[in-house]
Amino acid sequence: MNELKLQHVTYVPRDLAPGVLYVSLEYAVAAHLCACGCGAKVVTPLGPAEWSFTERGGRPSLRPSIGNWQLPCRSHYVISDGQIHWAKGWSEAQVLAGRNAEEQRRRDHYAAQERERGFWRRLWNWLRKVFGG
Ligand SMILES: [Zn+2]
Repeated sequence: MNELKLQHVTYVPRDLAPGVLYVSLEYAVAAHLCACGCGAKVVTPLGPAEWSFTERGGRPSLRPSIGNWQLPCRSHYVISDGQIHWAKGWSEAQVLAGRNAEEQRRRDHYAAQERERGFWRRLWNWLRKVFGG
């Protein structure tokens, strides 16, 4: 299988057709049958900390890659503009490293936000002191 067609749904159907990526924006979830043809259902939650779904010209992309480590086939691929790009089998360690990197980016993001808030709070306190607010 080298392509996935996009189908917008409200509820992901119980029986999935091969070669179709079902996307429910209402429930922030996407599902498809494993692209290797093994018939396993692959469900990917969508969100800032999960997979990100984009659509261009009716063709779906999901980031990051789909790594079906929990399936016997252990397939790994990227869905990009409706095309399946097969990735080399990653070792478990690389998978974890990838996840940790993602986690670290998220933490850095929140830390930066926190620092910014701290700056404005200090500025505000200083202004109140200076102008006796
Ligand atoms: Zn598979």
